[in-house]
Amino acid sequence: MYIRCLGMRVTLSTASLQQIHKYGGVSAFSCSNRSNDLQRMLFRKSSAQPPWLLRGSLDHRCHASTSEPDGSEPTTKPPEANIQKQSVNGKLGVYHAKRSKDHGSYSAPFHSLVGEPEPYDQWKFDVDTQRRIFCNRSLNMRSIVAVGFDMDYTLAQYRADTFETRAYHGTVKKLVFDLGYPHELLDWKFDCHFMVRGLVVDKKRGNVLKMDRHKYVKVAYHGFQEMSHDDRLATYCNTLVRESYDEPDYALIDTLFSLAEAYLFAQLVEYRDSHSSKFPPDSDYSSIYRDVRAAIDLCHRDGTLKQAVAQDPAEYIHYDPELIPMLKMLRSSGRMTFLVTNSLWDYTNVVMNYLFGNCGTNAELPRDNKWLEFFDMVVTGSAKPGFFADGNRAPIYEVDISTGMLQNTDNGSPLAQIGQSSSGHGFSASTKETKQACKVFQGGNVGHLHRLLAIEAGSQVLYVGDHIYGDILRSKKELGWRTMLVVPELAKELQLVDETVSLRKEIRSLRNQREALEDKIQRLYWSLRFEQLSPAEYDKVKMEIKMFEDQKDKIRELHRHAQRHCHQKFHKTWGQLMKTGYQNSRFAHQVERFACLYTSQVTNLCYYSPDKSYRTKEDNMPHEWEERDDAIRVPWHSQLSIVQKLSSFLSYF
Ligand code: IMP
Ligand code: MG
Repeated sequence: MYIRCLGMRVTLSTASLQQIHKYGGVSAFSCSNRSNDLQRMLFRKSSAQPPWLLRGSLDHRCHASTSEPDGSEPTTKPPEANIQKQSVNGKLGVYHAKRSKDHGSYSAPFHSLVGEPEPYDQWKFDVDTQRRIFCNRSLNMRSIVAVGFDMDYTLAQYRADTFETRAYHGTVKKLVFDLGYPHELLDWKFDCHFMVRGLVVDKKRGNVLKMDRHKYVKVAYHGFQEMSHDDRLATYCNTLVRESYDEPDYALIDTLFSLAEAYLFAQLVEYRDSHSSKFPPDSDYSSIYRDVRAAIDLCHRDGTLKQAVAQDPAEYIHYDPELIPMLKMLRSSGRMTFLVTNSLWDYTNVVMNYLFGNCGTNAELPRDNKWLEFFDMVVTGSAKPGFFADGNRAPIYEVDISTGMLQNTDNGSPLAQIGQSSSGHGFSASTKETKQACKVFQGGNVGHLHRLLAIEAGSQVLYVGDHIYGDILRSKKELGWRTMLVVPELAKELQLVDETVSLRKEIRSLRNQREALEDKIQRLYWSLRFEQLSPAEYDKVKMEIKMFEDQKDKIRELHRHAQRHCHQKFHKTWGQLMKTGYQNSRFAHQVERFACLYTSQVTNLCYYSPDKSYRTKEDNMPHEWEERDDAIRVPWHSQLSIVQKLSSFLSYF
């Protein structure tokens, strides 16, 4: 068996690992492993389980290769072959890499210790791309004291085909039976894949828009009809005043809960255009949107959705077997864990029980409160994002978890109730038992949470959520909490990004060719105007222009075709979630600005050490790009000659 350490291949046994640890060369393992455990741990790359579930202390900088270089199965060498450095002058590089007592740094330069470092790929532990955690802002988990979670669409991933479909039909029923919309709506169908996150609804005009990070509207639909290029430009781009695309005239589809309402709105816009007589004369697109919003809001509050989930959670929520191991791992690494959700206690208890294996609909698996052992504090009905606001004075109540009743508290400590002795049920704040019973609250604000968990600085908290505004933006901006956004759509997006590598390369190349040709044509026109050309030269330039124009038209058509093909591979209507044309989409821009980390599902955390230091990629401005395309850059001397020509032309007047 061998591992790659500091760029070297070393053969080792279990005992040698302890030696490495003792000598301090690499802080690799806190191990007293039996050989089998160790092998399982080191060679798990191909196994289905994440490494941290097998052994939590494997340091990230030192990983095992899965096989011998020739592809054969790895073998364990006898103890005497403990550490044999394979590449450098017979010296034991790992042994020499002792830390200096004074400075904590290596006592000799890196290159003199290890010779030629091997490519870093050899040390990398490959997490499946779709399960990777991506980093916008560096985050060292060692500085995190408490990890908090949102519940809906973060810990609990709903099934769009059942949950959102139920939300859609519930909303339609309310529109018909409560608000008097035509009965034919009851026959409508919902396509849960049509709308995507990051879209913007133009309530006044009945349009749905996708825009880039500069808020340039690149795709626009009126109902389900794509707006023509000219209409789109006239409405959103060539205007005197720049729109902010915010409330009250616009609505952001920024949670997966909003997909049904956007779809229903688009259907109603189309329906109204063709059946205006069926709507009251004073109704417009905005009022239709208001009705849809009110109806869907009611579905969330009156039990239409939550009763159904309580009766059969498995029908509506994905079960994730990695959730418990992830929470165990975080807690055994010394982190506190907490839950802050806008759902109320009764529903939270239903969902969390299901996630912890008790669906509650089966007599063998009744609901219990064991899941609470995985959290230091639970806040339900938190009213995020208001919960994170500095000036929020919302009172905090203790929830009696057996009855769901709320008890008044004084900043989180239970208040003695009139007529009850201080040792009475649940109100003696001092005893350990009561402290444990007191960990479910409703309402309150972030100040309560900080006090109850003894958080000293916002930067000690990592909060994981799915909602850019509700969970991430305010907690990061106002409190300095570190944030991780869960983007379930990312898994598919990553797969498609991989599948379209060559197509996207081709598109870039076509774009560069087109740009180079356009530039060439403009320069030729320029010389026609500003250079003293003989008639023969003039005709030659004209011919060249014609030739290049023809080429450009062909390439432009190819480029357009390839772009549309790529766009539709991601999503037939809206294209790539994180891109709008060549720019990041507005959604991607928000993810980049507000989420320190982002990933496809919360349990991806267990594929990384709880002490991992997440690091960003180097920022690159356009002038720093390695792949600068020389084809479209004009050499400085020709630029000079153009400037000279231009200035001599101007001096002529
Ligand atoms: P969280 O994501 O765990 O904070 O919880 C979100 C809660 O908000 C869930 O209980 C949802 O049912 C609820 N919710 C989502 N959209 C709406 C809405 O439009 N109106 C009222 N409640 C909503
Ligand atoms: Mg949520």
